[in-house]
Amino acid sequence: MAIEKILIANRGEIALRIHRAAHEMGIKTVAVHSTADADAMHVRLADEAICIGPPSATDSYLNIPAIISAAEISHADAIHPGYGFLSENAQFAEIVESHNIKWIGPKPEHIRTMGDKVEAKRSAGALGLPLVPGSDGAIEDVAEAKAIAREIGYPVIIKAASGGGGRGMKVVNSEEELETQMQQAGSEAKAAFGDATVYLEKYLGNPRHIEFQIFGDGNGNAVHLGERDCSLQRRHQKVLEEAPSPVLATAERDRMGNICAKAMADMGYRGAGTIEFLWENGEFYFIEMNTRLQVEHPVTEMITGIDLVREQIRVAEGKPLSFTQEDVTFTGHAVECRINAEDPQTFMPSPGTVSWYHPPGGLYVRVDSGLYHGYKVPPYYDSMIAKLIVYGQTREGCLMRLRRALGEFVIEGMKTTIPLHQRLLEEPDFQNGNYTIKWLEEWLAKDA
Ligand code: ADP
Repeated sequence: MAIEKILIANRGEIALRIHRAAHEMGIKTVAVHSTADADAMHVRLADEAICIGPPSATDSYLNIPAIISAAEISHADAIHPGYGFLSENAQFAEIVESHNIKWIGPKPEHIRTMGDKVEAKRSAGALGLPLVPGSDGAIEDVAEAKAIAREIGYPVIIKAASGGGGRGMKVVNSEEELETQMQQAGSEAKAAFGDATVYLEKYLGNPRHIEFQIFGDGNGNAVHLGERDCSLQRRHQKVLEEAPSPVLATAERDRMGNICAKAMADMGYRGAGTIEFLWENGEFYFIEMNTRLQVEHPVTEMITGIDLVREQIRVAEGKPLSFTQEDVTFTGHAVECRINAEDPQTFMPSPGTVSWYHPPGGLYVRVDSGLYHGYKVPPYYDSMIAKLIVYGQTREGCLMRLRRALGEFVIEGMKTTIPLHQRLLEEPDFQNGNYTIKWLEEWLAKDA
């Protein structure tokens, strides 16, 4: 059934991104916002806007009763959760569906399985995805952990089953450290996620982070849209992403992409998803699956020409996928820079009022951002204020255009990470695509 009105249960650039896709499809939008976001761009552009609570996300963007009430009052027939907030909350998805509102996301049971990393790893293994060697499920006692670690060899990493956002991980270099690190990981996980369950895996020395975008129709059909290389990270948070990966050969993309697509087809997965791998010495190792749209989805859109949000909405309407695997082709190269309201050297948050704003333009330059002249960046949320996405027919051409676009970008009134991206572009290692997940932090440390 066609969707007529979508409630956007998010804020910032992704709320605007969803609004744009909806309006291009002739679908009306409802923005729900905290008091701190009353002046946000997507709130201004949406057909309707409803305030759902005070600035604190717990009382607004995570406030399920308020969001459901807003959907009922506005007669929205679908909810898009964006990323973060409630996007991977299986219970929220169930509540939405039980109110006869379409959930623009995967089936709740798949969100639940993939949200528990121990369960996710188990399912991924059963579906034929290659895993990082490690414990078969959760580990409880130290003797068991020691035996596994001895078998796979140190260093190992202890991870929280409910972890996320790069938190709840401990690297263990030797058997002497194992017991204390395991206890600490457990109590930290309990405090942060309310769940002390941990598991153990081999700590890969110097991998890249390569993830596959997949799409399923929920009825046993699924395709992959190639990979994104997200190795440039700081504190396990992505800083810049590109597609395709500079190191992956076509045959490898096809091979791994098809393994992912088949796994999702077998699972009966619905909508957009991302399967994340570490990649070392030519081998892929599954780390987790995200059952939502990713921040970095635009680089995939640029090289495939497919609007991922439009496709999510179509799948939620019960339509079949609008493309087959054979229809998906990869052309050119795309890079996304995450621009944060932070000091580019210390990464201290720097919210403020935009006193001058001039986004770059020109051929193949895309800016996803809710910023405008006079907009006040609220201090309560994530510090990402814009994404600059640039396309080129070749990687080299893409980087030239990115340099040009970053040079044009003016955001005054606060510090931003634009200068960081500009410095990064001048680095030969980056220019050559020669980097791993450790590279950025080592490069930043050299400088300090
Ligand atoms: P989160 O859900 O918190 O993002 P992930 O499992 O996706 O956790 O891991 C986040 C990042 O942590 C990875 O991109 C990688 O940089 C690092 N990491 C995770 N597991 C390992 C591992 N086994 N070896 C080395 N690095 C790892």
